Amino acid sequence: MSKFRFKVVKEASLRMPVAVEKPSKLPSEMFESHVFTRETMRAYIDNDVLKMLFEAIDKGKPIGRDIASAVANGMKKWAMELGATHYTHWFQPLTGTTAEKHDAFINKDPHGKALEEFTGKLLYQQEPDASSFPSGGIRNTFEARGYTAWDPSSAPFVLGDTLCIPTVFVAYTGEALDYKAPLLRSVSAINKAAVDVCRYFDRNVSKVYSYLGWEQEYFLVDDALYAARPDLMLTGRTLMGHSSAKNQQLEDHYFGAIPERVLNFMTELEIEALKLGIPVKTRHNEVAPNQFELAPIYEEVNIANDHNLLLMSIMEKIARKHHFRVLLHEKPFAGVNGSGKHNNWSIGTNTGVNLLSPGKNAASNLQFVTFLVNILKAVHTHNALLKASISSASNAHRLGANEAPPAIVSVFLGTQISEILDKLENAATDEAIVINAKKEMKLGVGNIPELLIDNTDRNRTSPFAFTGNRFEFRAVGSSANCGAAMLTLNAVVAAQLMEFKAEVDKLIDKGEPKERALFTVIKKYIKESKNIRFDGNGYSDEWKAEAEKRGLDCETSVPKIFDAYLWKNSIKMFQNTEVLSETELHSRSEVKWDTYTKKIQIEARVLGDLVVNHIVPVASRYQSFLLDNVVKMKEVFGSDSDKFTEQDRIIIRQIAEHTSTIIEKVDELVEARKAANVIESEREKALAYHDNVVPLLDEIRIHVDKLELVIDDEMWALPKYRELLFIR
Ligand code: ADP
Ligand code: MG
Repeated sequence: MSKFRFKVVKEASLRMPVAVEKPSKLPSEMFESHVFTRETMRAYIDNDVLKMLFEAIDKGKPIGRDIASAVANGMKKWAMELGATHYTHWFQPLTGTTAEKHDAFINKDPHGKALEEFTGKLLYQQEPDASSFPSGGIRNTFEARGYTAWDPSSAPFVLGDTLCIPTVFVAYTGEALDYKAPLLRSVSAINKAAVDVCRYFDRNVSKVYSYLGWEQEYFLVDDALYAARPDLMLTGRTLMGHSSAKNQQLEDHYFGAIPERVLNFMTELEIEALKLGIPVKTRHNEVAPNQFELAPIYEEVNIANDHNLLLMSIMEKIARKHHFRVLLHEKPFAGVNGSGKHNNWSIGTNTGVNLLSPGKNAASNLQFVTFLVNILKAVHTHNALLKASISSASNAHRLGANEAPPAIVSVFLGTQISEILDKLENAATDEAIVINAKKEMKLGVGNIPELLIDNTDRNRTSPFAFTGNRFEFRAVGSSANCGAAMLTLNAVVAAQLMEFKAEVDKLIDKGEPKERALFTVIKKYIKESKNIRFDGNGYSDEWKAEAEKRGLDCETSVPKIFDAYLWKNSIKMFQNTEVLSETELHSRSEVKWDTYTKKIQIEARVLGDLVVNHIVPVASRYQSFLLDNVVKMKEVFGSDSDKFTEQDRIIIRQIAEHTSTIIEKVDELVEARKAANVIESEREKALAYHDNVVPLLDEIRIHVDKLELVIDDEMWALPKYRELLFIR
C-alpha cells in the first residue's frame, strides 16, 4: 500500500471514540440557554420597551431607533454574561451558506478609555465589506452597497464568544441579496392570502403561519482519510473511486445501531444544538454506509431555516473535535445513496388549526380540501419553478438517480385522499352542497371520514408527498439553504390562494351561496391539476414517458431548469405576491448560473490535477513493474514465459489503454473549459459546462475507476471507497 495511504488508513481505523461529558442538566433545562428569547429579554430590558418591541415584531412594523438602543443594551449585557466579546450580523448570502463578520464590543470613549459598546445602530444595520458576495449584477448596476439589517423575528444567540444577530442582506436600493429577505416576504404573502381564504370558514382567523420540519442527511468520514482525498476536500464529493464490494446491498446500516464514535459526535452536537434553541429530536443511521440523519421538531419556517443553517455550521465544528468531517454534499459517493433534506411543510392558523390536517367534521374538511386542492393547483402550475428552486450542480447527481425523486415534480396523495378528490370531482354540485340540520355540509361523498390518513400509505419515490398532516418536499438537497425551496413554495401557494379567492368571490357576487361557490372552484381545480398527481413508482422509466405526455416539466439540464425563474408566469407570480421583483429574479438567475459554472469548473480542475499527479504516475509505475517482469521472465524462460506472463500482458495493455484515454480526455477537458470560459452570457457558459465539461468528468472517472481495479493495492495512493465508507 502506498505509504501515505497506509498511514492514514491505520490512523483512522485505530481511532478511539472521543468521550463527551455528560451534562448535569436535562435537555429541557439546557434548551435555549444561549438564545435571547422573549423570556430572557424580560430580565434585561424594560417592560415598556419590550411591549413596543413585541408589538412591532408581531405586526411586522418597523422598530424605532430608541427601542433598538434599549434592546441592544440589554442584549450586550446578556451576551457578555455568557462570555461574548464580539458580535456579528449573521446572514445568508446566495452562496448557500451563512456569513458572519465579527466585531469586538471593545471601543474607546472620547477620553480614550476602553469600554464595551453595542448600540442600537450596530444592532439595526451593518454594512459589511461584502462586495465579493454574489449579487448577480444588482450592486454593479445600482452602484449600491450591501447592507445587513436585523431580523427581529429570529432571536439572537451566542455561539462561542460571539453574539450572532440574524439579519437580512439587501442592496441599498432594497433588493434582496440573500435567502432570508424573500423568505420573510413569502411568509407574509402566504399569511395574507391564507387568512383571506380561512375567513370563508372561520372569522376568528387572523394569522396563518408556515411551518418547516427539515430532515438533514449527511455523511461522516474520518478526517485523516478526508485529508488524503483532495477531491473531497475541494469539491465535497469523490470525483473517482470504484464501488466497494460491499456497500449498501444488505441494507444493514439503515436504522442500525449507531457506532459509538458517531454517537458521541451526535450527543455533543445535540447538546450544542439545544443550547442554541434548535429542538433536535430524531437521529438515526441512513441507508448508505456512514450516512446519518438528524431531524428537529418543526418550527415556523423562518426560524426553522435559521436553525438548519446554524446546525450545518456547528455540525462541521463539532465533527472535527471527533476527528470526523461532515459531508453535506448531495452525492459524495457514487453507487450509494446520496443525501437530501426532506422539507416537511405545513400551514396553520393562530386558532391552532393545521390547515393540512383533515378535520373532524365536514365543515373543517371542506377547509382542508380547499387548501389541499389549491396546493395541488399551485404545484401543478409551477412544477418547473419548484424544480428550479431545488436544483443545483450538486443536487443534480442525486435527482434522477435511483434513490431519489426524478427530476420531475409530481405530488403523491395516497389512495384515500385520491379517492376523495376523484369522488368530489364527479359529484353533482347540487347533491354536494345540501346543508343538513346541523349546518354541516354533505360533500356528495358523505362526510370525509374522520381518520383519513393511513400513515403507512407512503411513497418514497415521490418528490412532493402528502404525509397525513403536511407535505414533504423531498427533492431539496442536503447542502441547500431550504429558504430557496420554501420561499418558492410559499409564494406559489399564496398566489394560488389569491386567485382562488378572486374566483370564489366572483361567483358569490353573482349570487351563488358561499359553499356552492367554493365547491364549484374546487371541482374545477381538481380537474385542472389532475396531471400533477402521481402515486406510482417515480423511479420508473414509464413515469418519465407518462410525465412528458402529461406536460410536466422533464428538463434535466440544471442550467436550463433555472430558466423557469424568468418565465413570464413566474415573474408575474413573484411580483403579485411581492416575494421577488423582476430585477431580483434576473440577478438570482445570474448567480445560479455562475455558481453552477464555478462548481463544475472546480471539479474539472481538481480531477485534471488528480489524474495527472496521482493516477497516471501510479499507473505508469505499476505498468513498468509488470513490463520488467515480462522482460525478465523472457530472459529466464524464453518462449515458455509467454504462458506465465499472459495475465501481466493483459493488464499492461489495459493500463496503457486506460491511461492514454485518460490523458486524451483530460486534454479535451481543458479545451472544453477554455471554450466555455470565454462565453460572455452566464447562462450560455453554464450550458457549455453542462453539455461539454460534465460528460468528460464522467468519462474520465470510468477509466480511473477501472485502473483502481487492476493496479496493485499497495501502490494506490488515494483512500478507497471501502475505507472511506466503512471506517468509523
Ligand atoms: P419521517 O417519518 O418522514 O422520517 P418524522 O416523523 O421524523 O418523519 O418527522 C419529520 C419532520 O416532520 C420533523 O421535523 C417533524 O417535526 C416534522 N413535522 C411533523 N408534523 C409537521 C407539520 N404539521 N408541519 C411541518 N412539519 C411537521
Ligand atoms: Mg420524512
